[in-house]
Amino acid sequence: MSISRRRFISMLAGTGTVAAAATLTGCRPVSDPSGAGWLPNQYRDQSNFKPPVRGRVAFAPDDPAIMRDDEKCILCGQCIEACEKVQSVFGYYELPVFDDFICVHCGQCSLWCPTGSIRARNQVDEVLAAINDPNYVVVAQPSPATRVGLGEEFGLPAGTWVEGQLATSMKEAGFDYAMDINFSADLTITEEAAELVQRVTTGGVLPQFTSCCPAWVKFVEYYYPELIPHLSSARSPIGMHGPVIKTYFAEKEGIDPEKLLTVTLTPCVAKKFEIARPEFVNGAVAKYYNNENIKDNDIILCAREYAELLRKLDIDFANLPEGKFDPLCSQGSGGGLIFGNTGGVMEAAVRTAYYYITGEQPPEHLLHFEDVRGLKGIKKASVDIPGAGTVKVAVAHGLLNARKLCEEVKRGTCEFQFMEVMACPGGCISGGGQPRTAVPPQDWVRQARIDTNYAKDASYSLRNCHDNPEIQAFYNDFAEKPLSHVAHELLHTHYHSRGDKVTPKEVDAEGQYKK
Ligand code: SF4
Ligand code: SF4
Repeated sequence: MSISRRRFISMLAGTGTVAAAATLTGCRPVSDPSGAGWLPNQYRDQSNFKPPVRGRVAFAPDDPAIMRDDEKCILCGQCIEACEKVQSVFGYYELPVFDDFICVHCGQCSLWCPTGSIRARNQVDEVLAAINDPNYVVVAQPSPATRVGLGEEFGLPAGTWVEGQLATSMKEAGFDYAMDINFSADLTITEEAAELVQRVTTGGVLPQFTSCCPAWVKFVEYYYPELIPHLSSARSPIGMHGPVIKTYFAEKEGIDPEKLLTVTLTPCVAKKFEIARPEFVNGAVAKYYNNENIKDNDIILCAREYAELLRKLDIDFANLPEGKFDPLCSQGSGGGLIFGNTGGVMEAAVRTAYYYITGEQPPEHLLHFEDVRGLKGIKKASVDIPGAGTVKVAVAHGLLNARKLCEEVKRGTCEFQFMEVMACPGGCISGGGQPRTAVPPQDWVRQARIDTNYAKDASYSLRNCHDNPEIQAFYNDFAEKPLSHVAHELLHTHYHSRGDKVTPKEVDAEGQYKK
């Protein structure tokens, strides 16, 4: 007979043996909360408590990104805390909801869940099968934020830089190519900055919202579909990387695109949802080859899943020598690297927009754009760009903060031309798929990861996305220039209203719903 963790704890609560039982069942002490299974304090003391029942968030059984192991759930309600108070998703719609589970797949609840019950839909075995299948060429690439988080899964301090170990581990794991999403982060900035300049100079829809966070995009589609025209049409770095690998890279390397699989290592749970969107399953690559069998991207493996894969393969990650990524679609600038930090996309885009408008490299202060850095929930700044005047920008992280900015736009009180939003507090460095170094997530962990990224950016000679030689070669050899026809076909997308799925509650200017 199987027994849920909650029921087991309830049975033991009156006997004063919870702490011992927690140890026996694999629950770890609070000082070591990474991985699955530790218990919060109230379950470790001897007492006659009844564990509080506060409910939980719901997931669709076929959710492509996130799931719950019911046997571990203790109904403590921490997931509701994250979803309602941080993300303003749970509770922000009228009931009943008829044909959807309202979730943006950010995975923040999986970082708050004390028992590790909530996790990304696991694709480790799928990746192992692909690596071992000689019929496929498997191309792997890590997102910017993985290289400041993954080390924590292997006992390294928060924010340890492990880019070199990542490159080596990908080869040791058996991937045919080790590429880097930092290349595509640069590509996203070149397209998004070009789009911003076009909107500013031709009277287009403003403010322009960044669109690289799929959880934020789905949030807009649910709650603010009337604001969809504000979303940049530029795909996210992963959304661009797949099509570039399966066209430009495949042609250069002479690889049959039908035999090519992409596996992207991410801090992000929602990326699993993003690549499963219909417009990316039968998307740019299918259209390019007139072959519906080729998806734009194939598999997303979150950082915690990748750590599991390395453990399965007995790879001693922390002690690996530092390696390098393969050339062609791997070089990244400091601008691409800081994509993982809240404010990083904004800073990188402003550097490149400055260059596009003035023809000159951005001045030194834009290489350290302090006003958009840090963990303040909403950051506001302005930039003087000769030829464009003063451009006002805003950055929000955490969807409740984003909601406040959406309300400003809706109410006509928004003064900004460009807004960056990341669903996860701190940005992707604290994405739902990152190591659970502190549960619930803590700012000292976020700050350590952020600091490492900015220090690395400052140490690079290549700071601007538009200066990346591999990006310049891609345009020269293949896509001509940002916003060209080829670029639009491969690197841009469109969005759908989900307004028919949900009736949003009325909210005030602070983003709080009226009860
Ligand atoms: S994944 Fe995000 S939106 Fe979905 S239930 Fe968890 S916190 Fe809420
Ligand atoms: S902030 Fe980053 S990690 Fe979080 S949902 Fe958005 S893209 Fe994913």
